[in-house]
Amino acid sequence: MDASASHLSPSDSSAASLVVRSPLTGQPIRTVAIASKSQTEAALHRARLAGRQWADKPIAERCRVLRQARTELVERREQVVELLCAETGKPREDALMEVFTICELIGVCCSRARKQLADQKVKSHLLPHKRAFISYLPRGVVGVIGPYNFPLVLNFQDSIQALLAGNAVIVKPSELAPLAVECVRDALVAGGLPAELLQVIFGMAETAGVIIDGVDMICFTGSPRTGKKVMARAAETLTPVLLELGGKDPMIVLRDANIPRAVNAAVWGGLLHAGQGCVCIERIYVEEPIAEEFTRQLVEKVRQVRQGDGADGRTVDIGATTAAAQLDTIERQLADAIAKGAKILIGGKRRSDLPGQFFEPTVVVGVTHDMALMREETFGPVLPIMAVRDAEEALRLANDSDYGLSSSIFTRDRKRGIELARKIEAGSACVNDCLLSSMVLELPFGGVKQSGVGFRNGPTSLRNFCRSQSVMVDRLGTRSEPLWFPLSSWVGKAVDFSMRFFYGRGRARPEQRV
Ligand code: NAD
Repeated sequence: MDASASHLSPSDSSAASLVVRSPLTGQPIRTVAIASKSQTEAALHRARLAGRQWADKPIAERCRVLRQARTELVERREQVVELLCAETGKPREDALMEVFTICELIGVCCSRARKQLADQKVKSHLLPHKRAFISYLPRGVVGVIGPYNFPLVLNFQDSIQALLAGNAVIVKPSELAPLAVECVRDALVAGGLPAELLQVIFGMAETAGVIIDGVDMICFTGSPRTGKKVMARAAETLTPVLLELGGKDPMIVLRDANIPRAVNAAVWGGLLHAGQGCVCIERIYVEEPIAEEFTRQLVEKVRQVRQGDGADGRTVDIGATTAAAQLDTIERQLADAIAKGAKILIGGKRRSDLPGQFFEPTVVVGVTHDMALMREETFGPVLPIMAVRDAEEALRLANDSDYGLSSSIFTRDRKRGIELARKIEAGSACVNDCLLSSMVLELPFGGVKQSGVGFRNGPTSLRNFCRSQSVMVDRLGTRSEPLWFPLSSWVGKAVDFSMRFFYGRGRARPEQRV
């Protein structure tokens, strides 16, 4: 990390450390120091000062700095990718895609920044002679607390947008995957971004708490359990929150679906990054007439998935399970399902032939909603399939969940697919596709129910990171206004007359009839 950033001095006696290990090998990669309360507060203070200068810069200048910083990130991509693969256990291609997404995001957000952040004129119906507009002003310091699964995208997506909107940013990455995040931050700083404007702080719940207490907005991506704690803590200072939480995403396959496409989608959408995606497919509902054939093809496809450590130059489809504790969760859910009558068709156990934390890609049938496997987030390479009578039953089951992040529907009848999508209780829905809607940065992304509060990305996302200010400017310069003192009785008469004329019984003006 850049020396001027939130570096931890070895002389700080309260500094603890954490060891970052590779799930591919179980070996330590590096030990990093955890920021103490005073160090975190000092970082917040420096961020606030840096943010004030940054906020004064024109939007075009902020864009120029970020675009220039991006070129340094591209230069250092191999270093970033190596760290990201090592600490998360993901394949090189997935890691490169994360870096690319950040580059893309900077471009997309810069291209729309001026429009989104410009003052927005409004016309007053009641006071048409007044000038009125909305200003979008930086909030100050934005805190970003991220998860371990897609550390770059999920920490920098919000960070970059917050920066463009004129804020300073403090990022606290997951303790399981903090190294590549620091590396990206250092690249952006080496590329010209002011060092104190984007700082990365290491730590866990305690450090996160200090950040929440000291920022003007908190963006949290992680589990619903932690998300609730973040919201409760932020409530103490009435700090606005954006919460992007877990998922248990359903996939519905109707009898007229293109089966090979649905199978390929299920395998990729369910097993991407060994199932460690908030939008990974975690439940499959297939109409009975095609359930057998769909399952047969799915098992065949899952058999071909290449799993392992891609670090030695081999191309693998999926890697390791980043969090050791998640392996226990997967096993617990599978044991519960089997005890209640489910059957594993392929996979179902840890890979004993590999040194790290690997779980076999798994397909399970005979599942019901009484099983934890169909109700709790698995976050592992497991595809449970349930045969359903019809689309209505699939829809009812898809919505029988505490979660509502994303969803997908496969049918050759696109119109019907879209109609079903509207009835799914989820922040996003794909028809004959899956997951990729989260990469359409022009679409808002967020969850309903336990999957989140608020949205990121989309056509007005930069405004999330602003406090809006409503401004009204007098244009006429008269000595007084009708409503100012001393009140005149004709004011009451005029209001009473207008109310009856415009809104009274039988007097509605044509444009007011719906
Ligand atoms: P997590 O909730 O365990 O941790 C997330 C972050 O919160 C980490 O940085 C952690 O250090 C921090 N944290 C821990 N305790 C805290 C506290 N008390 N207060 C504040 N912060 C605290 O999540 P995880 O296991 O790292 O990530 C996996 C979860 O994230 C899954 O549920 C997944 O679905 C979800 N996720 C959601 C999205 C989305 O966009 N909706 C994207 C990716 C992951």
